[in-house]
Amino acid sequence: MPGGESDRTIAECLDCGNVYAVKEWPDGTIQPIGMRNGCQCGAAELQVIQKTNITNLRED
Ligand SMILES: [Zn+2]
Repeated sequence: MPGGESDRTIAECLDCGNVYAVKEWPDGTIQPIGMRNGCQCGAAELQVIQKTNITNLRED
């Protein structure tokens, strides 16, 4: 397992619910891919959607 590399995952805006592809760093930092200032609605807080939930969505 390489150290210091980001992991691409999915995060949801806590304010408007938009979902974005993000990079998650080992220290917990979330960086939206292609966006510097968080969600387009102006909120900076994004919450990572657990990968297990993504699997569950596919099973629905
Ligand atoms: Zn938003």
